[in-house]
Formats: sequence, C-alpha cells, structure tokens
Amino acid sequence: MSGQREVIVLLGPPGAGKGTHGQRWAEENGWRYAATGDLLREAVQRQTPIGVQAKAYMEKGLLVPDEVMHGIVEEVLQSSDRPLLLDGYPRTLAQAQVLDEMTQRLGWKVKAAVLLTLSDDEIVERLSSRRVCPNCQAIYNLKSKPPRNDEICDECETKLIQRDDDKPEVIRKRLAVYREQTAPVVDYYQAKGILVEVCSSGEPEEVYGRLKKVTLS
Ligand code: AMP
Repeated sequence: MSGQREVIVLLGPPGAGKGTHGQRWAEENGWRYAATGDLLREAVQRQTPIGVQAKAYMEKGLLVPDEVMHGIVEEVLQSSDRPLLLDGYPRTLAQAQVLDEMTQRLGWKVKAAVLLTLSDDEIVERLSSRRVCPNCQAIYNLKSKPPRNDEICDECETKLIQRDDDKPEVIRKRLAVYREQTAPVVDYYQAKGILVEVCSSGEPEEVYGRLKKVTLS
C-alpha cells in the first residue's frame, strides 16, 4: 500500500509518453497526477502573472526559471490530499534539490523516479503527430492513438490542437535542453538508488504494461 504523502516523479524527454501513461497510471491507482507543463499552459492561457512570465520561455522551448517553478510545485504539494505523480518536475538539478527540501519540510517523501526512455528519432516522430485537447488535456497521436472523429476530442468534443512547442524547430531546442539540463537529474536519482527505467519504444499498450509492472512492484 502506498502512503498518503508519497511522490513519484516522472522523467524523460519530451514525447516519451509521460503525460499519456502518467495520467492513466495515476487514475488507475487513485493518485493525483500533476504536470508542471499543463499548469504552466493553463497560467499562460489565463494570463496570470506566472503565465505572463513563462510564455516567452515556453515558446522558445526553454525552461521557465527555477524560482517560478518552485512556487508552483509547493502549491501542488500543499493542495494534495493523495499521493502524487509529478510529471515534468524536476527538470534541473537545482529543482531536484528544492523538491527534496520541500518534501521533507512538508512531510512528503520522494519514493521513486521513473524514467521513460526513447530514441531521438522516435521522439521527433511522436511529437510531430501529437495533438492535445486544449480543454481536458487528453493526449492523442494521429498515428498511434487517433481520435475517433477527425481531430476532435473523444472525451469532450473540443477541436484538438498541436502545441506550439511541438513544431520541428522548437522540438530540437527542447531536446537539447533536456540533454543539457535534465540528464543530471536522472543521475541524481540513480545515485540515490530510486531510479527505475522503462523503455518507451513501441505501442502505447505495450509501454503501459511495462510501466505498470515496475511502479507497482
Ligand atoms: P512539458 O509539457 O512538460 O513538455 O512542458 C512544456 C514547457 O513548460 C517546457 O518546455 C518548459 O518551457 C516549461 N516547463 C514545464 N515544466 C518545467 C520545469 N519543471 N522547469 C522549467 N520549465 C518547465
């Protein structure tokens, strides 16, 4: 049984399936799923002070400054009454250290870091055919997980969109940022002995089967 105040962090390059598989895993296990990218996109849309600050970074495929992110994550921890699957944070070593400090201070524990791995070629291929629902955040892939009706969300019937940062030039920048800034986070959790790797290549069902096995064991 999992404790109430446990966090699992979901790591991996953009397009590795963190959102798709993370949302499903959290729902099936009664965990809260929180993605910093979703929270930021919502803030941008609502033009909150954080959203106004974050927009320019996100459009270029750059990371939003750590100081902005800390407040977002602290708020997520403070408002969670269930164990938490955190997608998209930490993305820098400094964020990983802050998460340790914050979880300790607020009585939480980082139980595991799950890394979804995928080759660069597969990442570009997946991201360019990804479509998302701007209303309910459901994620589709025109090739491997198409919506039932042409580019319309199955859940809420909103017209699907392509994220601005899923355009080829921005994808390349995001991948470079991942290699430079997020790879050390993987090493950080490996050194702590709580890193679990899951290969994300293949069909969604196959990948989910692998994730389910490791995180529940
Ligand atoms: P994602 O949906 O996780 O791919 O995130 C989309 C964008 O939001 C990223 O390219 C960053 O600009 C920003 N972002 C999300 N999470 C973080 C984070 N932990 N630190 C800095 N920027 C972030």
